[in-house]
Amino acid sequence: MTIPKDARINLSPEDIPKRWYNLASDIPDLKPPLNPGTGQPAKPEDFEAIFCKEIIRQEGTTERYVDIPEEVRDNLIYLNRPAPLQRAYRLEKYLKTPAKIYFKREDMSPLGSHKGNTALAQAYYNAEAGVHTLTTETGAGQWGTALAMVSNLYDLDTTVFMVRGSFEAKPLRKTIINTYGAKIYSSPSEYTEFGRKILKEHPETSGSLGIAISEACEMAAKDEHICYSLGSVLNHVMLHQTVIGQETMQQMEIGEIEPDYVVACTGGGSNFAGMTFPMLGQKIHGKKFKDTQFVAVEPKAAPSLTEGEFKYDFGDTAGFTPLLMMYTLGSNFIPSAIHAGGLRYHGMSPLVSAAYDTGMISARSYDQTQTFEAGLLMARTEGIIPAPESCHALKGAIDLALDAKAKNEEKTIVFCLSGHGLLDLYGYEQYMDGTLQSSDIHS
Ligand SMILES: *Cc1c(COP(=O)(O)O)cnc(C)c1O
Repeated sequence: MTIPKDARINLSPEDIPKRWYNLASDIPDLKPPLNPGTGQPAKPEDFEAIFCKEIIRQEGTTERYVDIPEEVRDNLIYLNRPAPLQRAYRLEKYLKTPAKIYFKREDMSPLGSHKGNTALAQAYYNAEAGVHTLTTETGAGQWGTALAMVSNLYDLDTTVFMVRGSFEAKPLRKTIINTYGAKIYSSPSEYTEFGRKILKEHPETSGSLGIAISEACEMAAKDEHICYSLGSVLNHVMLHQTVIGQETMQQMEIGEIEPDYVVACTGGGSNFAGMTFPMLGQKIHGKKFKDTQFVAVEPKAAPSLTEGEFKYDFGDTAGFTPLLMMYTLGSNFIPSAIHAGGLRYHGMSPLVSAAYDTGMISARSYDQTQTFEAGLLMARTEGIIPAPESCHALKGAIDLALDAKAKNEEKTIVFCLSGHGLLDLYGYEQYMDGTLQSSDIHS
């Protein structure tokens, strides 16, 4: 038997994209962030306490493409880019579906997720601007790990505030982040005013991304050489992740793959944006992907697109950030402690929200008991243990493949495997021993 041509489609390092695609250029009446004090559109100065100038510029830019600095492009090699596009033959066979299922392998980064793509760019611009320390939040730990690792490439110090629930459930994340040379604190912490306030009011809290963001912003705002770095949600993060979708488009050309569905999970929206925005850009201009549907998959525990409201809200819990026009469950919403920590966020990227509001994309949600079942199936067919977050995209893809089977249609499904789950095995353990709790906010 010969190996089919589309079993795994690889690109060479020189195929790494040279520019990022900006969906903001193709959404004419995108609502700008507002200054909560004045209610007026936020000015670049409103961000200067926490971000460096080039990041602020990229946050607001409406140019269609932004060039990737050569040094960033070279360093994407350290993240194992370009990432393969692979076909899930054994999963298809198990499902007995006529559908073809492909997945983009962001799990092959040494960091275990797609987060390094923007971490690298952000570290580069901050180092260029003379910043010496980056602060950030992390939920499941992938983002903190990514920033800790890339900080070494640019001689930066990094301080990570990790949501307490995850910090306690995943002690090895601390070890990894320390191994890369960064500091990590359980959030809420004693190191910030806001952290101390929350600890006083809610000593038993398991924390949240919103709280951790507030702590990291507070630390950055106090020193001009300390900047804050966000792993998702904002426009510049979506921009940096578009290497994923641009590579995938090249791979689909090579494999003559025309997707009916492109699926990704959504926490703050960055892997979804990275995967789909370059294709949406083509679709908007009538070039390609005319009949392709783009599907966002979120957890029932934090269903911002499917059950949230499209309105201005804070990105964090303390109200330090500008107001963002997005689908949100409210900045005080604290989701239950699901294993997919990276999806535990009250809001959604304003760009992903705008795409959803205009009907360019659709969304669905699953409970974690359903997504771990899908993860187990992937492990036992394809040999890969997906991240609990990625299991949402996988579950979405499996359902579409089963739907195709029921209708006997040869659909083509491409999903983003945003990361591996080798550092998040606790959820798998609970799923297998039958103690995994449903995380539906309604249950
Ligand atoms: C952080 C993370 C997510 C969720 O964040 P997005 O910004 O929505 O992509 C999904 N998968 C993995 C593996 C992650 O680390």
